[in-house]
Amino acid sequence: MAPGDASQSVRREIAGASIADLAHAHGTPLYVYDAEIIRQRCRDLAAWDTIRFAQKACSNLAVLDLVRRAGVVVDAVSAGEIHRALAAGYPAHAPVAAASATDLPPAHPIVYTADIFDRDSLDAVARLGLHVNCGSADMLEQLAERVPGAAVTLRVNPGFGHGHSQKTNTGGEGSKHGIWHEEIPEVLRRAEWAGLSVSGLHMHIGSGADLAHLAEVAGSLERVAHEIGRSLTTISAGGGLPVPYKPEEVRADLGGYFTLWDATRKRLEDRFGHRIRLEIEPGRYLTAEAGFVVTEIRAVKRQGGRKYLLVDAGFNTLARPVLYGSYHPMSLCPAGDSPTACEEVAVGGPLCESGDIFTQADGGFVTTRPLPAAAVGDLLVIEIAGAYGFVMASNYNSKPLPAEVLVDGGHGRLVRARQSVADLVRGETV
Ligand SMILES: *Cc1c(COP(=O)(O)O)cnc(C)c1O
Repeated sequence: MAPGDASQSVRREIAGASIADLAHAHGTPLYVYDAEIIRQRCRDLAAWDTIRFAQKACSNLAVLDLVRRAGVVVDAVSAGEIHRALAAGYPAHAPVAAASATDLPPAHPIVYTADIFDRDSLDAVARLGLHVNCGSADMLEQLAERVPGAAVTLRVNPGFGHGHSQKTNTGGEGSKHGIWHEEIPEVLRRAEWAGLSVSGLHMHIGSGADLAHLAEVAGSLERVAHEIGRSLTTISAGGGLPVPYKPEEVRADLGGYFTLWDATRKRLEDRFGHRIRLEIEPGRYLTAEAGFVVTEIRAVKRQGGRKYLLVDAGFNTLARPVLYGSYHPMSLCPAGDSPTACEEVAVGGPLCESGDIFTQADGGFVTTRPLPAAAVGDLLVIEIAGAYGFVMASNYNSKPLPAEVLVDGGHGRLVRARQSVADLVRGETV
């Protein structure tokens, strides 16, 4: 952005709906989602047999319903997410089984994916007969006791990882996730003793845009697939598709990504003599760019040489900056005429906590951002907030969870009401 050019950072609409009108109708802070962006991200991945949405990224029922209508199935990591999937209209089971070796096996509408069963999730899985992706061997016996003869997927840790921070790395010795690759023969024996068959194989490493790394992951999955043998009908490349948060970041090479996994799948089909379903399991990719946090500027102040905008959203609303030092683009929706000049500002929230800053770098250092000159009462829009946004919001400082609005066809619909103060103390007694 050219210095002083404020126009690029002014935004008055989201998907054709007036931001000022949405804030007026629903209050702030407010999560707003653009339905068409989510549909477009689903279409981007149409080459894959199955898109399985990792709903933990954005699990509002209206979003789940939207992706379901786009032909996308879901992952659930808890009894709560199983409940959400059912409430959004997903059936527990696929309607039909594969007729022959030339047909693809059906996709499970809901898969429970975790490294453990807590007691509630094991109860839900057993009651509904859901397919399970096991991230630890202990899950095998626990499942077999409740669901004799079940077919399962194994999540394998190939012994190396990737990820944009230590907290998001999902492979290697530093990760708790998946079954260690060297343990696979032993785990297959345990599955057999427990009377379970292994129909799926899954790796979620988060290779991002790094195709060389991905080739390593696919190669590793293929070797494990050979150990499992002909019972295998589905392989999953996991999630981790990146989205560009910063202006200089580029989109992932989706074509290259698919080609690599498709080649792995075809070699396995040739070897086993039957079709293999190829799944991808995005979370962030489907919803990140569709989500916006609309917040109101409540104070503008100077601390020595640095200017701060203090807004009514905090890390209770959007936790990624304080958790990971994540960058989110921001724009201003001014109450009056558009300002013509930009200035460097830090942006913080209302919480009694010095880490409550949206413009922070890795390590918690406060940084600044060029934004159009702003005043109290203007709205600030925090962008690319649709993944790991609302779902990580908390009641810290006894702040109610924000409302969520889905904009479709230029019309904004409230899809989750803002919490009330009564909601805040529900279940508490003196
Ligand atoms: C979180 C998660 C995903 C989605 O990760 P993204 O980086 O959001 O794409 C996919 N699969 C599993 C098992 C996960 O835990």
